[in-house]
Amino acid sequence: MTYKIDNLSIKELQKFIIDLNEKPFRAKQLYKWIYQKGITSFEEMTDLPLNFRDKLSDIFEFTKITPIEQLLSKLDGSIKVLFELEDKNYIESVLMFDGERVTACVSTQVGCRMGCKFCNTAKIGLIRNLTSGEIIRQIIYLKDLARQNNKLLSNIVFMGMGEPLDNYENLTNSLDIILDEDGLNFSHRKVTVSTCGIIDKLYTLSKNYKVNIAISLNASSNKIRSKLMPINKKFNIEEIIKSIKNLPIPKRKRITIEYVLIDGINNTKRDANLLVKLLKGLPVKVNLIVYNKIKDSQFNPPDLNYALNFQKTLINNGVATFIRKSFGQDIEAACGQLYAKYYKERGLWKRSNLTQEIKQ
Ligand code: SF4
Repeated sequence: MTYKIDNLSIKELQKFIIDLNEKPFRAKQLYKWIYQKGITSFEEMTDLPLNFRDKLSDIFEFTKITPIEQLLSKLDGSIKVLFELEDKNYIESVLMFDGERVTACVSTQVGCRMGCKFCNTAKIGLIRNLTSGEIIRQIIYLKDLARQNNKLLSNIVFMGMGEPLDNYENLTNSLDIILDEDGLNFSHRKVTVSTCGIIDKLYTLSKNYKVNIAISLNASSNKIRSKLMPINKKFNIEEIIKSIKNLPIPKRKRITIEYVLIDGINNTKRDANLLVKLLKGLPVKVNLIVYNKIKDSQFNPPDLNYALNFQKTLINNGVATFIRKSFGQDIEAACGQLYAKYYKERGLWKRSNLTQEIKQ
């Protein structure tokens, strides 16, 4: 039996290594080869004894994700990558450049079962969770892509396909590798996990990891949020506000509130005032995102003036608010737009979940 080595935490790897009658420190050496040097062949790990390398080759293999399409935005230089997984599923990731800030946006699931009405990924439902190896391989690939562009990858955001907290175990396995100084060695300040609001898991995550948190709110009343995001029936706005007050986050850290502005749905002055009432005095900053129109969608982006006025209302009432730059508008960079065509070809598009129940 072979195991994917990049699905293992350092502790699990140490256990394997001890079982092979080798010293535990070899695990750190292996981690450095795999995550810092990006090596995917035991033969190249030249500071490991030859017979140990042979043993490793017998029991381990590396997770393979193959880039099959890569699109470069002429507007902002962001690069979207479509990966084929070993089981012929597809996921996408985006590398975004903003001065010295270079951000990898990665996926955690093939599809998603959360059913947000404005989201392309929702249309295929959940096909499966990604392994931590598949999550990490996206980052290693994008890190290398940044280097090819003479930049260093500085930030990681879990905002691609899927709901990260719906794949909690593999998310946290990958966070362990990302934050380990012998692994990818990122500071928790540079890593953001975004959720549609799975509050119970959010508490668990915050207790164990100091990474940044983003919550996708998108409405200031339960009536509208429930229409846009079925998760609101399980964890409503009041639950989210309560969690913001109670999450064990480090002092001075603010939670990001993501708010996609959709024309005629959630972008009025009244919506902005209600949002002020909800958020005033809380440790949050709001990211307004102008909806990125997707094909066949019932929704439309608002005029930019609406976004500016919405922002003004929030700022004037003491709520820090930014209009988030939308990357790659010419390359279909919004979540799920590129791979949609691959799933359509395979007849999987719209195959399941818009009515799928969210069971937690
Ligand atoms: S917005 Fe995020 S949580 Fe909602 S359906 Fe899309 S991928 Fe899933």
